[in-house]
Amino acid sequence: MEAEAGEAVGRMNLPVNSDYWSYRGGELYCEDVALSRIAERFGTPTYVYSRGHLEGKFKEVERAWRGRRHLVCFSLKSNSSLAVAAVLARLGAGVDVVSGGELYRALKAGFPAAKTVFAGVGKTSREIREALKAGILFFTVESFSELEEIDGIAGKMGAQAPVAFRVTPDVDPKTHRYITTGKAENKFGFDLEHAREVYLSCRRLGAVKPVGIQMHIGSQIRSAGPYVEAVEKLAALVRGLKREGVGIRYLDIGGGMGISYGGEEVPAMVEYAEALRPVLAGLPVSIVLEPGRYLTGNCGCLLAKVLHLKRKAKKNFAVIDAGMNDLIRPALYNAEHAIVPVSEKTAPAVKVDVVGPICETGDTMGKDRMFPEPAPGDLVAVLSAGAYGFVMASTYNSRPRPAEVMVHGGECELVRRRETYRDLVKGEKIPSFSEKE
Ligand SMILES: *Cc1c(COP(=O)(O)O)cnc(C)c1O
Repeated sequence: MEAEAGEAVGRMNLPVNSDYWSYRGGELYCEDVALSRIAERFGTPTYVYSRGHLEGKFKEVERAWRGRRHLVCFSLKSNSSLAVAAVLARLGAGVDVVSGGELYRALKAGFPAAKTVFAGVGKTSREIREALKAGILFFTVESFSELEEIDGIAGKMGAQAPVAFRVTPDVDPKTHRYITTGKAENKFGFDLEHAREVYLSCRRLGAVKPVGIQMHIGSQIRSAGPYVEAVEKLAALVRGLKREGVGIRYLDIGGGMGISYGGEEVPAMVEYAEALRPVLAGLPVSIVLEPGRYLTGNCGCLLAKVLHLKRKAKKNFAVIDAGMNDLIRPALYNAEHAIVPVSEKTAPAVKVDVVGPICETGDTMGKDRMFPEPAPGDLVAVLSAGAYGFVMASTYNSRPRPAEVMVHGGECELVRRRETYRDLVKGEKIPSFSEKE
């Protein structure tokens, strides 16, 4: 919204470029459902997901890679809602999980084990057993010690564990330092120069079979360049390994493709695919992709209510009923989500910090935002909150976690009920010795 303080603002422009979120008659809609109706029915704060948008994103990724053997493994950690996952599973997606809990959810949502890849630097023996029993596509292995553990467990189970080694191609994707993972100094993966040795070491282990190579160079990357640079290195490795008799079937390029949070230009999946096709030409491998945010990020919003407008000497604050416990990205990564009114109104523009109710200065959803003067009871939508939103929600300050709602055309359904106070203390007890002196 481009407005000067004091200027009257009416119509809103949505920074999200999509057919699934729009203002109609001054009301913000998700598909054919007014967000104000969702707030009325389910309360606030509530995460709202557009099923149509999600399906559209997945189909767009599929189209981008058409003609090249590939498997899209949705990164479940970006949004592990069963409702969201089930939409993608039904469309034929695979899944990328990072824990036994995610494996459980993935199977419950309907993803086939044979399209499941299991990543993470610290898999436990229980998780390894569960994944072997389920029959996953491959483990992404991050250390020798982990490889030996998987080999030992698979051996005892009389199984062969398919593995892909995660290598750090040492490229700098120029993103936020907390979400960079492909540089040599990160904790993730094997250094590229040791990769060959790792593959060859599988020969002296009886129960692991190297089938793939994996990379994941970071998150919220906004250009194809780093992928091209990294995949060139991996492709050379695949060719070298082939000469030594190690056949690699899967080249997993990870996730990390960025999205627009406030209207900024980002590449579409087809641009990544077109940039990578020449690098992959002639390589007899299936491409595995692990997009998370790219699929789910723009497909959800966090619906919240203004509690107070607070004027201080230096700043105005709009206090809303959603805090950093509900959506931590602004506090954790300085992420800038667009925040828009749910009902357009013509009122003088004011500059506000949109803040949550948590007792932390960091609990700011948006800084210096121009808003038609908000009043208590007004609804706002924090846009592009579909990835790393609810999954990172906590009950800090003993706040029950929000509800989640999915919209499909003119229908909407509660897909996770709001937590209750009783949920907050579930599993807890006061020890018996607290009665004693
Ligand atoms: C987090 C993660 C992803 C997904 O990242 P996005 O930025 O959401 O696309 C994919 N693969 C691995 C191994 C990850 O850790």
